[in-house]
Amino acid sequence: MPDMQLTVDFRSDTITKPTPAMLEAMMNAKVGDDVFGEDETVNALEEKAAAMFGMEAGLFCPSGTMTNQIAIKCFTQPMDELIADQTAHVYRYEGGGIAFNSGVSTRLLNGYRGILTADMIAPEINADNIHYPHTSLVVLENTVNKGGGSCYTLEQIKPIAELCRQHDLKLHLDGARIFNAITHTGDSAADYGKYFDGISVCLSKGLGTPVGSVLLADKDTIKKARRIRKVLGGGMRQAGFLAAAGIYALDHHVERLKTDHAHAHILADELSQCDWVTHVMPVETNIVLFDTIEPADLIVARLVEQGVKCGTTDKHRIRFVTHLDVHADGIEYTVKVLKGL
Ligand SMILES: *Cc1c(COP(=O)(O)O)cnc(C)c1O
Repeated sequence: MPDMQLTVDFRSDTITKPTPAMLEAMMNAKVGDDVFGEDETVNALEEKAAAMFGMEAGLFCPSGTMTNQIAIKCFTQPMDELIADQTAHVYRYEGGGIAFNSGVSTRLLNGYRGILTADMIAPEINADNIHYPHTSLVVLENTVNKGGGSCYTLEQIKPIAELCRQHDLKLHLDGARIFNAITHTGDSAADYGKYFDGISVCLSKGLGTPVGSVLLADKDTIKKARRIRKVLGGGMRQAGFLAAAGIYALDHHVERLKTDHAHAHILADELSQCDWVTHVMPVETNIVLFDTIEPADLIVARLVEQGVKCGTTDKHRIRFVTHLDVHADGIEYTVKVLKGL
């Protein structure tokens, strides 16, 4: 075991705490009542995020679950069906919200690490027949959380968007980690608006804010979304204190994501040398998934004893997520712990 014990927390990129500079930006925010539309910092964040992605308008919400669920509600009618990968966050980790909030059924596909193609989607679009639910929406995730941070490029998205247009389907992006995807692929955020009807961007993942996500779409959709947010209890008052953290993050925490990706690669390289590891999934962004000979719970317990916190995603699978609060010394320390395990 290394001489000095550190605590390094790889459980999620949601655990980050605001930096002193982010806190200062929050403290200095000009605020108002956002339900009255009078919080200038919230308005500024919504406009800024929309402009970055080439969309008309934005809506600041407490969580990515809410932005996704509002988008699904905007883009469907009860009895419709949406298409998503079987690992999709909107289906697996949003508490059955698709059925509860929108009365919509879900057609699940088997993408490669959560990545779908137009060829996979096309045969799953229902014909116009009263027996079948009406297919109205496709949801993509970028990066794919359960896929181990796998990415779509815009080249891969284009034919899906084209297919959706041909069949009059809406296309929504769960972009909880869209900036990680863009950092990896080199695509431009501004081009995303050409292909998606809705985009959800999380500020509280890799970008490191304490709270918040933005939903981006055209003006009419955002107007409807604002009404749905109110129904869900998501209308916040002086939310500018939170939005200020979002603006700060968009200005200062996007560029640094490449550090998180580099850290993830270092961990993956070390893990692939470990004889207690059977397989390491290819790393694209800030998530490392790997399989262990022994039950994952046992390994995680041993790592936690040495200050390395992480989680399991399966009986023999462990997940490490790198983020803003993991620094080079934490990576160095973790590599030593992994070597000694
Ligand atoms: C975290 C996450 C969300 C949103 O989660 P909240 O905790 O509700 O903000 C949505 N999609 C994916 C892929 C995520 O990882």
